[in-house]
Amino acid sequence: MKIDVVTIFPEYLDPLRHALLGKAIEKDLLAVDVHDLRHWATDVHKSVDDSPFGGGPGMVMKPEVWGPALDSVAAGTAAGTRLDSSLPHLDRPRHDELAGEAAASVAPQGAQQPVLIVPTPAGKPFTQRDAQELSREQHLVFACGRYEGIDQRVIDDAARRYHVREVSIGDYVLIGGEVAVLVIAEAVVRLIPGVLGNRRSHEEDSFSDGLLEGPSYTKPRVWRELEVPEVLTSGNHGLVDRWRREQSLARTWARRPELLETAPLDQADRAFLEQLRAAESADAPSTPQP
Ligand code: SAM
Repeated sequence: MKIDVVTIFPEYLDPLRHALLGKAIEKDLLAVDVHDLRHWATDVHKSVDDSPFGGGPGMVMKPEVWGPALDSVAAGTAAGTRLDSSLPHLDRPRHDELAGEAAASVAPQGAQQPVLIVPTPAGKPFTQRDAQELSREQHLVFACGRYEGIDQRVIDDAARRYHVREVSIGDYVLIGGEVAVLVIAEAVVRLIPGVLGNRRSHEEDSFSDGLLEGPSYTKPRVWRELEVPEVLTSGNHGLVDRWRREQSLARTWARRPELLETAPLDQADRAFLEQLRAAESADAPSTPQP
C-alpha cells in the first residue's frame, strides 16, 4: 500500500515510522510519503488559509493551494519525504508470528485510483469496517485540515475524479487532521496481509465479529491477590472458547448494547443474553408502591 499525507506539519506524521508500521515499511508492504502543503503556496508568506466567505471566526484553507497539491500527489508526481522505518525490526520477530501469511507488497502507483481521505469532525464515523475496506486499497491520500477546515470545493472537485471519504474519528474536535491520520492509518495498515504476524490477532479483535472483545490475562496466575479466571487454566479449549464468547457478549451488553442489534448471534448467545437481562431485572430495585 502507498500512503501520501498532505499537511502543514510534516513532522507530526513521524509516528508512522515506528512499531508495526515501521515494520510494514521495512517489509515493503507499505510506503509513506509526507508532503508539506506550503510547497504549493504561491505568495511570499506561503499562506495556506484565508478568511471565510460570509464572515465568522477562524480561517479556511485555500483551494488554490490544496487543488494543485492533491492533483500532483494523486498522480504520483509530487516529491514528498519518504518515511523510513525507525528501527531494524525484521531480525526480531514477535513470538507469535506465523510464517507464510500472504504478503501484499506496495503496488506500482497509478495501478488504481487513489482514495482521498479527508478527516473532519463533520465526516462519517470511521469504523472497523472502513478500516477493512481501506486495507484492500493500493493508494490512500490523506488531506490534513487545520483552522476551520478545507474549502469544500477542494473535496467536491476531487470527488469528480476519485473516491473521497470525509471521515470523523469521534464526536469531539481536534486542532488538526494529523492525529486523525495516525489513527486511521494505524487501523488500516495492521489489517494488510503480512503486517500482523498472526492473522488471528485481528480476526478476534473487538468489532471484527460485531462485538467487543472480552478481557485478556497473562502470567502470573495470581497478581496482587487477583486470580486469573480458572477456566483459562483448565486446558479445555471448548470451555475457554465458550467463556470468551460469553465475556465478549457480557461486555458488549454492558458497554455498547447497540452493537448487539446487528452482531451475528447464535441460539446459545441469545440464551446467555436472556440470562443477563433476567439477572439485571432481578437486581433492579422494585418500584415503590403508591
Ligand atoms: N470547523 C470544523 C468543524 O466544526 O467541523 C472543525 C475544524 S478542526 C478545528 C480542524 C481540523 O481538525 C479539521 O479540518 C480536521 O482535519 C481535524 N479534525 C478535528 N476533529 C476531528 C475529528 N473528530 N475527526 C477527524 N478529524 C478531525
